[in-house]
Amino acid sequence: MSTCIFCQIIEGTIPSAKIYEDEHVYAFMDIMPVTKGHVLLIPKKHIENIYDFSEEQAARLFAAAPKIANVLKAEFNPAGMNLLNNNGAPAGQSVFHFHLHFVPRYDETDGFQPTWETKQSKYTPERIQELAAVLRAKLQN
Ligand code: 5GP
Ligand code: ZN
Repeated sequence: MSTCIFCQIIEGTIPSAKIYEDEHVYAFMDIMPVTKGHVLLIPKKHIENIYDFSEEQAARLFAAAPKIANVLKAEFNPAGMNLLNNNGAPAGQSVFHFHLHFVPRYDETDGFQPTWETKQSKYTPERIQELAAVLRAKLQN
């Protein structure tokens, strides 16, 4: 038996409120929903985080995302929706089997607060261009 809680959910040894599955992915209600309709989408294969995906595995997972977002939108009529994925404990990952959160948003008091400082950037436009150049060289050469 797997030691990973989400692998156990896929295996059926731990119960879950499943909403969708296909050959490659599984979607279910979060056990501690932040808002009404908080869903998790996971790959059936144990993949710890975003760094470990092949392009094909990522494509299969994200292919299911619009379907899930649209059914949440149609059923619960949220005002908006946040998709969120945490990688690594410092980023807030607590279950080390990749999962994409779908958090339907109703208003500013619905319990979810994705905030970051936008008033004053620590980075000049020149510094941003420098950082982009480093990344571009890695990605496009
Ligand atoms: P993370 O903090 O890793 O991004 O999110 C983990 C999420 O998994 C949390 O929102 C938590 O409520 C959810 N979770 C943890 N254990 C279980 C479980 O056994 N069943 C379900 N359905 N969700 C779980
Ligand atoms: Zn797992």
